[in-house]
Amino acid sequence: MNQKHYSIAVDGPSGAGKSSLSKKISAAYHFVYLDTGAIYRTVGLAAGRAGIDRRSEQDLAAILPDLKIEIRYDNAGLQRMILNGEDVSEAIRMPEISLYASDVSALPVCRAYLLEMQRRFAREYNVILDGRDIGTVVLPDADLKIYLTASSDARAKRRLKELLEKGVDTTFDEVLKDIELRDFQDTTREIAPLRQAEDAVLVDTSELDFDQSFEVLCSVIEENLPVRRESEA
Ligand code: C5P
Repeated sequence: MNQKHYSIAVDGPSGAGKSSLSKKISAAYHFVYLDTGAIYRTVGLAAGRAGIDRRSEQDLAAILPDLKIEIRYDNAGLQRMILNGEDVSEAIRMPEISLYASDVSALPVCRAYLLEMQRRFAREYNVILDGRDIGTVVLPDADLKIYLTASSDARAKRRLKELLEKGVDTTFDEVLKDIELRDFQDTTREIAPLRQAEDAVLVDTSELDFDQSFEVLCSVIEENLPVRRESEA
């Protein structure tokens, strides 16, 4: 008998807390978490290494057939990105790769290439996917759609903290500039722009800390899906 799989789509701008919250949700509800930004980052990294014009459809199309992108989960359940056999999970977090990912992600050839990879997950498992177009394009029939956002200031503060903790040398102004540029590119691109799906629940985390945001999301999930948190099961 085919088992029903539940899918949760989480979209929103960078730094709204999508990844860290989705990760915690996936552990609490035993869902598989897929960070789709990491896949775009992997393509961005490959484009950067190949030295191609990252906004050229033709240039990217020429290197895509040679890319072997794999998604693995380590023993702790953390997603690892493998590019042609190399674990690039750390390399894709460098600040310049954010922009490379945003560049390549505006190209139809890139989005088409990654679409099926993302959909396959939702067919096989209970999933929570986070990204920019999950509720609008990748999983338009997701069982629950959440649009997670926060002011650009709040997002830049959080991103700065994360980067400094990782030892990346950067400043608030640099991070804010990067966030605003990416917001602009991601919301104004022609294909699959970032926008709230009509049937998505809006959650603004500007004034919430991590634990408060998590509680809000758990309430939204339990109001909409027949699932319960691990500790309460
Ligand atoms: O989520 P993250 O910040 O890691 O994503 C990096 C970039 O990848 C985004 O700025 C966006 O341009 C692109 N992306 C996308 N669609 C997704 C996920 C990420 O276009 N579903």
